[in-house]
Amino acid sequence: MHDALLSIEGLTVCYGDFPAVSSASLSVAAEGVSALIGANGAGKTTLLEAAAGLHRPKAGKIFFQGEDITGLPPEEIVRRGLCLVPQGGRCFPRMSVEDNLLMGSYSPRGRKNARQSLERVYALFPALMQKRKAPAGSLSGGQRQMTAIGRAFMADPKCILFDEISLGLAPVVIHDLYERIQTVNAEEKTAILLVEQDTEKALVLSDTCFVMLKGSVTLSGPSGKLRPEDIRSAYFGI
Ligand code: ATP
Repeated sequence: MHDALLSIEGLTVCYGDFPAVSSASLSVAAEGVSALIGANGAGKTTLLEAAAGLHRPKAGKIFFQGEDITGLPPEEIVRRGLCLVPQGGRCFPRMSVEDNLLMGSYSPRGRKNARQSLERVYALFPALMQKRKAPAGSLSGGQRQMTAIGRAFMADPKCILFDEISLGLAPVVIHDLYERIQTVNAEEKTAILLVEQDTEKALVLSDTCFVMLKGSVTLSGPSGKLRPEDIRSAYFGI
């Protein structure tokens, strides 16, 4: 039934009585990059966080690799290979870059290959290798974001959810980060669902695009084939 790697079906998530996500459905394929776009407050972050187990849905189901993961604790969801890179490149500022990265390999899945994963992260982000002993608090915004992304890679995930990783970064850094993410997607067959505020960038980067409006997914399809007028209407509701 559930051919997709990650399948979100009729998801509703509320803050108090307010439905931030309302009967939203989307499927992420095992390969390729999927993008989720929508205006501020459309519910993108809440949807990603719910998939990662950070909110208990009021209704709907979340399947990962064909198994129902709805309501499972976040650590169990990571253990199964689904990781979230939250907004803002959150790191433990007083811990070294390397210790921040190693925090990502606490799951049995990640722990098994921690050394190897660390080498992979350093190969992908050489800047982190140079800074590996430095406290994460001393890094630039881009390097902090790399550390947060690297931490997700350390768990050896099958699918990564990226929440607006480009927020507040310089265009050249954003370009570089996305290039590396595409490398991981292509070479390591890690599925990706990314939230990106720049619609054009999201469409160029992704194979499949989802548009959210007021908590619901209003449009989905191959990124190269969606018509601008349909995107506009799904995005703004006009
Ligand atoms: P943005 O692009 O601004 O990050 P978003 O599409 O990610 O927006 P969410 O952050 O998921 O949207 O927010 C969806 C709705 O839920 C918004 O109306 C927001 O104000 C509300 N919301 C988000 N977090 C909370 C919270 N902790 N408590 C109450 N309401 C919240």
